[in-house]
Amino acid sequence: MITAHLTETEIQLYVAEPEAISRQLVTHLEDCALCRAKVANYVSLFKQIQEAPKPTFDFDLTALVLEQLPAPKMAFPWAAILISVLATALVAVSAVFFWSGIVVLIKGVSGVLLAVAATGAVVIVGFQAIELLKQHQKQMDTLLAQKTLQL
Ligand SMILES: [Zn+2]
Repeated sequence: MITAHLTETEIQLYVAEPEAISRQLVTHLEDCALCRAKVANYVSLFKQIQEAPKPTFDFDLTALVLEQLPAPKMAFPWAAILISVLATALVAVSAVFFWSGIVVLIKGVSGVLLAVAATGAVVIVGFQAIELLKQHQKQMDTLLAQKTLQL
């Protein structure tokens, strides 16, 4: 039998998880009135804490917090639209202005050179599409991994 009394931590552990302390400490508890009294006090204390009413606010916390948050802006993408219109206009004006030059250039270029240029453009677009798909898949994997961690 242990002659020293249990520490406060050991008594709290015994009350919370009786199987977590050693057999020697349990034997001491069975024979020691002082430690049993402390156990009874902690049992009563833990029971009162569990039964205590949960603290509640007497005001609507959600409404107060929402009042503090800035309202979401429903911004219309004016800048993107303006830039798109200007770029389209620039391409259209250039095509109209240089149309005769473009026609002469296309007629002057041999068919083989045109086929090589078209093949190169198709290959580049293909590689960009593959890269875009890989990037999308990587982002989806990252998002799904984060979602799994939160659950
Ligand atoms: Zn004791």
